[in-house]
Amino acid sequence: MNVYDSEQIAKLLKSLGYKITSSLEKADLVIVNTCAIREKAEQKVFSFLGRLSRLKIRKPDLILSVGGCVAQQEGSKMLQRIPFLDLVFGTHAISRLPGHIERIESKKCRIVDVEMIEGIDEPAFLIDTEDHRKVSSFVTIMQGCDNFCTYCVVPYVRGREASRDPEKIVNEIRELVKCGVKEITLLGQNVNSYGRKERLCSFSELLSLVNRIDGLVRIRFTTSHPKDLSDDLIYAFYTLEKLCRHIHLPVQSGSNSILKRMNRKYTRELYLEKIDKLRNVCPDIAITSDFIVGFPGETEDDFKQTLDLIKTVEFDGLFAFKYSDRPNAPASGFSHKISEQEKKDRLTELLDLQEHFTKKRNKSLVGSTELTLVEGKSKKQSGKNAQIKPQNIQWTGRTSTNKIINFSWNDDCIVRDDIFTGRMVNIKIEKALSHSLWGRPIEVKPIFNLNLN
Ligand code: SF4
Repeated sequence: MNVYDSEQIAKLLKSLGYKITSSLEKADLVIVNTCAIREKAEQKVFSFLGRLSRLKIRKPDLILSVGGCVAQQEGSKMLQRIPFLDLVFGTHAISRLPGHIERIESKKCRIVDVEMIEGIDEPAFLIDTEDHRKVSSFVTIMQGCDNFCTYCVVPYVRGREASRDPEKIVNEIRELVKCGVKEITLLGQNVNSYGRKERLCSFSELLSLVNRIDGLVRIRFTTSHPKDLSDDLIYAFYTLEKLCRHIHLPVQSGSNSILKRMNRKYTRELYLEKIDKLRNVCPDIAITSDFIVGFPGETEDDFKQTLDLIKTVEFDGLFAFKYSDRPNAPASGFSHKISEQEKKDRLTELLDLQEHFTKKRNKSLVGSTELTLVEGKSKKQSGKNAQIKPQNIQWTGRTSTNKIINFSWNDDCIVRDDIFTGRMVNIKIEKALSHSLWGRPIEVKPIFNLNLN
């Protein structure tokens, strides 16, 4: 969500003549887009701002600004705490940003804008030259959240749930496809409840609309709340050929008593039932999840149930975090907090267990052929290695199941061409590494005929 917001900000500020630089020293304007989901992310914001203060001393005309969830949460307190800061803007103020920057440029004033609006702060529908180089793009379909999980700040810093009009979403994707985008990821805090409040179409109906867009090759979405994962949506993995075979379905805990205290509104049994349904409909679907360890009151037995759930599901991958108190979130007032050491030990144990299943799942793919969307040269190989021989260049792409595959072209390859970014390539998997695969390209699919009308 923050990557998408940052892209929007960059596009909006082009209208004022700003362009992105990779050098802080050269910047006339620095915008720190922040995340408040965990305490550590928030601490990083303040330490980064501390470093920026030295830059501001050297360049007094530099405009420094903080946006996103920490800005929304802290508001004017940030201006008081950080005297060199010029602008604090919240999650619903992105569209007003150019006006604020212009006022600061001309009047040298300081501004706080954390006003939240009802409904959608419609994203700026701007396509720029950067989009012409992208294979994959995010498209937001909704904002905010109504679920109020007890550990989470999102409903307080991003506001109540509101969905975008399906026609606007489809139009935005069509424009991106015209620029060469092949894959889109539909974004929302809980995409499964898309359109319910506004009585728009359901999320599975939206997926069907998007699936019909000519020239689009792949559809992904994130994030799904297990309680709202409908049978219709599960069935979409069978019927929609562009929908990638991957779902990120955060479970957070394997213990019913912890799930209840988290206000997640589903049980471990219901979660496992949904996993069974998904695998019945799409046997090779990749399933990933999120976990929080050390939630207040989490006993040894609760934690064992979480480990047991991981063993039962055998996830393809997961993200796990130590619980941390967040301002406004009810769990920050819960008793029976878990010590930092205990949280750390549990996190290590959980990640070690998952490592085994990630490797197991990756190894099971060795010898198979995976249709891969090539995203470009691998990071290690781009830039300074531009002189490298074409057959030694390493490329990177993703399978439908969201696994990263790295590969290089070799003499056996039936097509020799330097321009593979955005192409669909069949790759034979030769090696499974911890978090990626290595393979040999065996066939480059023809370029799709784009219907640009
Ligand atoms: S569903 Fe829960 S965890 Fe996800 S954004 Fe909403 S409140 Fe936060």
